[in-house]
Amino acid sequence: MPNKSEPSETILIIGGTREAADLARELIAAKPEARIITSLAGRTKEPAPLAGEVRTGGFGGIEGLARYIEDNAVTRLIDATHPFARQISANAIEAAKIAGVPLDIRTRKPWEEQRGDNWIEVDTLEAARDAIPPRARVLLALGSQYIGLFASRDDVHFVVRMIDKPDEPLALPDHALVLGRPGDTAAAETMLLIAHSISHIVCRNSGGRAAYAKIEAARELGLPVIMIGRGD
Ligand code: NAP
Repeated sequence: MPNKSEPSETILIIGGTREAADLARELIAAKPEARIITSLAGRTKEPAPLAGEVRTGGFGGIEGLARYIEDNAVTRLIDATHPFARQISANAIEAAKIAGVPLDIRTRKPWEEQRGDNWIEVDTLEAARDAIPPRARVLLALGSQYIGLFASRDDVHFVVRMIDKPDEPLALPDHALVLGRPGDTAAAETMLLIAHSISHIVCRNSGGRAAYAKIEAARELGLPVIMIGRGD
């Protein structure tokens, strides 16, 4: 039996998503005696505030994660990472086995094309780049690490939205930078698409509600979405 100073259970949420933040809040409300820790990779300079404890930075591979679980007497591991964050999810499976703790996998399901959507589905970033028609005006809704691949499209105007201002200017020849988080509503995203005269969106099929507003906005405006599937 744990004594009064020890938590009844310790749950480690591997996070970095809005769903992980929601889950931390729900678990704290449902289990006030438990220790709830969210782990962030540390990619975002100013992450949104999180309920409970937060730890930041890589664990040092499978062994590092297994060691962290053991050192902190973690009793349950939850993978609530982004569906494209494959390495940490693979590490979580192995580390949970080594440390002998149960693992809950809560990664999101992909979005499905709805009536009124106009998706051009591709498997890779390269295929997405090549699917953009000449002289298009594209909302490039991708992480900064994927932007460079589109630099060869000097015939296209890109609008790039980022949470943090990049340290270096973007490599894209013709672009506008919008700083901020994605809009919560289709109306907010529609305004952005209209303001920049966007003709196409390029994004990955992340699933979940946080990034879905731009898909709804594209549907309302009848814009094509070049959708990169999870095969990438
Ligand atoms: P990744 O390729 O799967 O992970 C690469 C390495 O980063 C991992 O091996 C791990 O380092 C570290 N890492 C990743 N997520 C971590 C976390 N939550 N806590 C501690 N270390 C973590 O991951 P990624 O695609 O770069 O994504 C990084 C984070 O951003 C994830 O938390 C993810 O949920 C979030 N995110 C990703 C995307 C995306 O498109 N990939 C989009 C939105 C949010 P060690 O091996 O040293 O432990």
